[in-house]
Amino acid sequence: MTNIKELYRLVTIISLFTIFIGCTTSNKSSRDLKNEKSNYENIFAIKNVNIIPMTVENKVLQNATILIKENKIVSINKSIPDDAIIIDGKDKWLIPGLIDMHVHNLSSGSFSKGFPTRGSTLNFETQNLMTPYFANGVTTVFELSGRVGHFSQRDEIESKKVIGPRIAIAAVIDGEGNEIVATTPLEGRQSVRNAKGLGYKFIKVYTWLSPETFKAVIDEAKKQGMKVVGHIPNAFEGKAAEEFFIPHFGLIAHAEELSKQTDDYSYEKAQEFARLAKESHTWLIPNLTNMVAIIKQAKSLESVTSLPSLKYVHPLMQDKWVTSNSYNKRATPELIDYFQKQADFHKLIVKAFKEAGVPMLAGTDAGISGVVWGFSLHDEIQLLVDAGLSNEEALATATRLAAEWLEINDKVGTIEIDKFADLVLLDENPLEDVSNTSKISGVIVNGKWIDATKIKTMLDHLAKWNNDNKERYLWKNRKNL
Ligand SMILES: [Zn+2]
Repeated sequence: MTNIKELYRLVTIISLFTIFIGCTTSNKSSRDLKNEKSNYENIFAIKNVNIIPMTVENKVLQNATILIKENKIVSINKSIPDDAIIIDGKDKWLIPGLIDMHVHNLSSGSFSKGFPTRGSTLNFETQNLMTPYFANGVTTVFELSGRVGHFSQRDEIESKKVIGPRIAIAAVIDGEGNEIVATTPLEGRQSVRNAKGLGYKFIKVYTWLSPETFKAVIDEAKKQGMKVVGHIPNAFEGKAAEEFFIPHFGLIAHAEELSKQTDDYSYEKAQEFARLAKESHTWLIPNLTNMVAIIKQAKSLESVTSLPSLKYVHPLMQDKWVTSNSYNKRATPELIDYFQKQADFHKLIVKAFKEAGVPMLAGTDAGISGVVWGFSLHDEIQLLVDAGLSNEEALATATRLAAEWLEINDKVGTIEIDKFADLVLLDENPLEDVSNTSKISGVIVNGKWIDATKIKTMLDHLAKWNNDNKERYLWKNRKNL
């Protein structure tokens, strides 16, 4: 088991280096922008729609009319002003915009040699990075490897230069190998204060922190009013789980963090983790998608090359996922078997956490190979149902509960008057079959109504750009980028 774990670590570390990158500029013409802007201040009414509000009671409103003005929900079943744009919601279902609580967006960077006045040489069109999100009804994401480029992306969206989701950003603090490194409790505390000064609202603790520094980071984050998400450091292996389930460690980023801590994959062990999580108020992102994707690509790269959503991935990453795929390159039958045992245990973890009443949140790890931004959230929601959540519970992990953890539940996460109109119009009822979350008729994101036709046009544009630029972005030639 130990050797397998070592190999596994090597594989996961290598995969992390893929996630460095993101961009600040959009190449849209000013005329495009004007056209898009003109659509922002409009008043919309969706008529005759079935509203699934995703409040705790979640009483479905049938055949309702919802009025949206300046990006807010202003009324339900009241009169409609004459100048409202009418959207026909007949036989359709309206849910709150979806939230992915674990993503890694590309951001600007450089592989080639720099000099002091030279900035990033590898840039991305922010719109191309964001289109797959709203195309899939994702209107909020939690960036778990925060970099300066992500702040720029958030500003471009906020100022409506780019259509995209709301972005919460966490600063990663690690014991080695990450941008912010803290090797002592004192450094850990200072790193938290620095991150706060830079504008981060959240801290992500990482794998190589010492137990003492991990605890100091969490304690300082509490003092600074910052919530903590993250990994359980490997240094806790062999120690009692009480050591890392500590108050204010608010959210575990993968169920895998728990399966790494034990060789006992029994339901009793899952229940023990759940009980401790309940006591320390630690929530969980099961992140079932990434392990399923890892197993598939360890077995065969065809699982990546045959992905229908691969064409929406930046060509550099498309090429890397195929030509430099560490999960596939280092796969052995033993390693695949180990991954499979973990994946099975993760389902037990979901069951035990549900039984104990510990909230779970939908997060995909989008950005690791084989996990495509936006598209993967539907996979995660389905896997949560397969693991034992009801359709409604699974939807709550990607709406109300996620908003609650991010402390934006007064603004998004449910369909209620005065909240932002982050909304997804579906052709079929997701409470009957949760896979219906991907049958999207239209989305309201950042105050803009985008119907299925426009979504398709934007996705086609993105796929074409990616295809046209393949030769420019070969992974083996990245030193020139
Ligand atoms: Zn991640």
